[in-house]
Amino acid sequence: MRIATPTRTRTILSEYGHRMRKSLGQNFLIDGNIIENIIEGAGVTEVDTVLEIGPGIGSMTEVLSEKAKKVIAVEIDQNLIPILEKTLAHRDNIEIIHQDILKLDLEDLKQKKGLEEGFKVVANLPYYVTTPIIMALLEGDAPIRSITVMIQKEVADRILSAKDVKAYGALTVACNLYADVREVLTVPPSVFLPRPKVASKVITLTPKVNNLTVQERKLLFAIVKDAFGKRRKTLLNSLSSGNLGYSKDRVREALEAAEIDPKKRAENLGIEDFKRIMTAFAEAEK
Ligand code: SAM
Repeated sequence: MRIATPTRTRTILSEYGHRMRKSLGQNFLIDGNIIENIIEGAGVTEVDTVLEIGPGIGSMTEVLSEKAKKVIAVEIDQNLIPILEKTLAHRDNIEIIHQDILKLDLEDLKQKKGLEEGFKVVANLPYYVTTPIIMALLEGDAPIRSITVMIQKEVADRILSAKDVKAYGALTVACNLYADVREVLTVPPSVFLPRPKVASKVITLTPKVNNLTVQERKLLFAIVKDAFGKRRKTLLNSLSSGNLGYSKDRVREALEAAEIDPKKRAENLGIEDFKRIMTAFAEAEK
């Protein structure tokens, strides 16, 4: 019997005495159809290597390993490692790594695990760290072909409707700058154990072809984070008092070169305006 059924999931949890850790966003999928739909939406085939973030007890990992060439599953909870080793023992193309995904150097992983060819990320993300995880994936230089993630519906809707300027934040801007965003499906709370309070949505981010260097992309994301970090402030103030460490004069010059009014706030800018600001800072550094 598949792991992703209510009966098998309950049996595994009681057999190992695993107490679900809310603080780690542990809501496990108990519906095989939803898992099939997520994997189909991610377009995973036998040529793909998949990085799964937070495998839990292996509900989606099991099915991923049947469709993909290889699955690398990164789980932070030490208690789940022996469970995963047992539940997935019948599959020989899964590698389980006990680690916080935010501390994992994807560059290192790329070399060690033969991921140079590129890989797809598929995850039912822990909702408390959705933003830092997606940001880290987009920001780095790992050869990611696509990112298919289940996140809170409300957050997904914001990313999908980047036109609603007032509602967007750093994550919306970063996703839309860097990737084409597509909705895969909406998922009700009833397919999880325990049930979360909110509905979820699966989206796929496919990196856009762009000619930005890694440094330029990092600068772009740092600008976006600082601008939204203090979203009530004008751009002149938010960009000169955040992590970028730029002086007011420097920020004023860059905004002028980008033809953006320094009194505007992050939420008044269009997605492409951020790119112009980044180019202005990068040009000034040359
Ligand atoms: N994939 C499983 C499923 O769909 O049933 C579990 C999904 S559950 C929403 C999120 C999983 O991510 C949990 O197993 C949790 O322990 C793990 N997790 C939480 N924070 C993490 C982190 N920083 N790095 C890696 N895994 C993490």
